[in-house]
Amino acid sequence: ANKLGSKKERTLALVKPDVVTKIGDVLELIYSSNLIVTKAKMTKLTWSQAADFYAEHQSKPFFNNLVQFMSSGPVVAMELMGDEAMSTWRRLLGPTDSAVAQREAPQSARARFGTDGVKNVGHGSDSLAAAARELEFFFPSTIGHGPLNTAVCTDC
Ligand code: ADP
Ligand code: MG
Repeated sequence: ANKLGSKKERTLALVKPDVVTKIGDVLELIYSSNLIVTKAKMTKLTWSQAADFYAEHQSKPFFNNLVQFMSSGPVVAMELMGDEAMSTWRRLLGPTDSAVAQREAPQSARARFGTDGVKNVGHGSDSLAAAARELEFFFPSTIGHGPLNTAVCTDC
């Protein structure tokens, strides 16, 4: 909680290439939650941008597949804001593997729209530090104008 007792946060939500054509379904899920979309942009990542974004996974066996998939088509990056935005968005997504999501969280986005363990609808920051870094990746703050991206809202 910030000094006003608010738990409002910002987080990065990334709609992956597999469901960019179903962006409306993802937005409906967000509208049904307590989160609001405060920034959005569609872009296509190069292989090396996707590799940078997922650098924490570079030693994993699925890294090449993941980067290939993430640079295979457009993505939609959004800044979501609201109470506990980071964990709320990850809960809306559901478990990483779409098949597990179907068993354990059938209402989740990954259960409803996901394909498998890689093509799984979206990305959500997994910590406030990651949210700040990942928001900066897609929505870089202009040096000298306004604050750097922070995930805990002191101004909202
Ligand atoms: P999450 O997206 O739920 O935070 P991770 O950070 O562990 O999951 O993994 C990042 C992304 O890498 C996943 O969303 C998925 O697209 C892919 N991935 C994760 N684990 C596997 C796996 N075992 N096999 C293939 N792809 C995977
Ligand atoms: Mg992750």
